[in-house]
Amino acid sequence: MTGRSIRRVVIVGGGTAGWMTAAALARLVKTPDVSIQLIESAEIGTVGVGESTLPHIRAFNERLGIDEAAFMKATRATFKLGIQFEDWGRIGDRYIHPFGDYGMPGGDAPFHHYWLKASAEADVGPIDDYSLPVVAAREGRFAPPSDNARSLMSTYGYAYQLDASLYARFLRTLSEAEGVERLEGRIVGTGQDGDSGLITGVEMESGSIVEGDLFIDCSGFRGLLIEQVLNAGFRDWSHWLPCDRAVAMPCATDQATVPYTRARALEAGWQFRIPLQHRVGNGYVYCSAFLSPDAATERLTGLLEGAPLNTPNHLRFTAGQRRRTWVGNCVAIGLSGGFIEPLESTSIYLIQQGITQLIALWPDRDFAPRAIDEYNRWMDLEFERIRDFIILHYCATERDDSELWNHVRTMTLPDSLSAKLELWREGGVVQEYRDGLFLHPSWVAVYLGQRVRPARWHPLADRRETAQLIPALARLRQTVASAAGHLPTQDAYIAGYCDWRTQEAS
Ligand SMILES: Cc1cc2nc3c(=O)[nH]c(=O)nc-3n(C[C@H](O)[C@H](O)[C@H](O)COP(=O)(O)OP(=O)(O)OC[C@H]3O[C@@H](n4cnc5c(N)ncnc54)[C@H](O)[C@@H]3O)c2cc1C
Repeated sequence: MTGRSIRRVVIVGGGTAGWMTAAALARLVKTPDVSIQLIESAEIGTVGVGESTLPHIRAFNERLGIDEAAFMKATRATFKLGIQFEDWGRIGDRYIHPFGDYGMPGGDAPFHHYWLKASAEADVGPIDDYSLPVVAAREGRFAPPSDNARSLMSTYGYAYQLDASLYARFLRTLSEAEGVERLEGRIVGTGQDGDSGLITGVEMESGSIVEGDLFIDCSGFRGLLIEQVLNAGFRDWSHWLPCDRAVAMPCATDQATVPYTRARALEAGWQFRIPLQHRVGNGYVYCSAFLSPDAATERLTGLLEGAPLNTPNHLRFTAGQRRRTWVGNCVAIGLSGGFIEPLESTSIYLIQQGITQLIALWPDRDFAPRAIDEYNRWMDLEFERIRDFIILHYCATERDDSELWNHVRTMTLPDSLSAKLELWREGGVVQEYRDGLFLHPSWVAVYLGQRVRPARWHPLADRRETAQLIPALARLRQTVASAAGHLPTQDAYIAGYCDWRTQEAS
């Protein structure tokens, strides 16, 4: 610690972003000389949604030393092997974007080229049939992957479907045990240094001032500090991502839980279904230009698979990102930094990336501009890569049954996405990048799942004769089906590992 080290961290907001940040900083950064305070207002509350995650959350939890079974019991979580998309390319279409690969490890060309070649000659089934996580998900089965890189059981990862408010509570307990101080109340004002513009403190409704060196804005869509005080600006992506409202409503369930999230395209948006151990999270994400809140609520209510457990929760948002997510001594993490609609469950991942980069670039009280620029560059890259991938789900459609689908089918695309699409259409090549979401199999899943077929397969696939390829694929398909069939059902696995009711009983 030097004379200029950060000594007082103030986190504004106690939603998922606030408590993930608090827990990570408490476990990974805090020393006896550093205080961490978190301010939240029960009166304002949190968005109260955000239940489907990506596999990266496992690394986050592991880094914090969180026991998986205890966490899953506490958050009533289920496992997630991917997302099932229904009615996106055409009404009646269905595919799963898996957290895993297609085919077996090895091969000269990526597996989808062999599949493209074989399927031009014979009915070899959908590419989904060659992915263990897809087939296991469809059958409601789950077991953790193997570490043996040569095994089919190593070809996938997994994430969780969890109760977001219970996750925040779980992290709060952890954070407070590590010395984070929670302050309840509404922030009504902010103090800034006249020369540097740095935030010096926030004023509570009670009149007290909470001073700090570093402020982390986790205040949700309003961007209490980053926008309302520091005017960071906003990149508005609603032209490409026009959904701007959601209505969410959990419901009861008595069905077996499935290890995947469902995203069904509807007339003016799409519906999510996220199965937890004790209930199902549901929502209709829609475009307000084409649907009223009442009509959205009625549509969602009609699609519920069980009795509603709460009144409808209506949310508004604009897809986009802050122009700068770190300004001066304020870093925006969570919805305050931006929001791309929840189609691929990317928000919690972005929170995690924000925290990881902040720790990597941890400042002192000089707030070196180079580190701030690097943080903003990194978050821009993360956001833009996710943005393109989400837009792909909309533009790769043949649907023409509503105003929303006519708009997204014909809209001009960001240049970065057009380039990716052309590369794929020409020769089935996925643009590779090392950092950021999403990687090769994810793009293949959506391209093929939504009928974007390339003009040709890679010539390397021609090194295998079709006459040998077709029976080899048939054997592989059988191997995948058999491996999936031997896995326990997700419910059986959870019962033996992390049933939330056993926690209640103990
Ligand atoms: C419909 C929908 C579905 C979603 N689904 C997913 C999903 O499946 N997966 C995923 O990863 N993400 C999802 N998200 C995003 C996810 O909900 C958020 O990323 C996550 O909840 C984090 O929110 P937050 O903590 O940034 O903000 P919030 O939950 O809004 O928390 C803001 C906090 O700031 C406090 N606050 C605000 N103003 C003040 C003030 N003046 N004084 C004191 N305190 C204040 C509030 O009290 C609250 O504690 C979804 C979002 C929506 C809208």
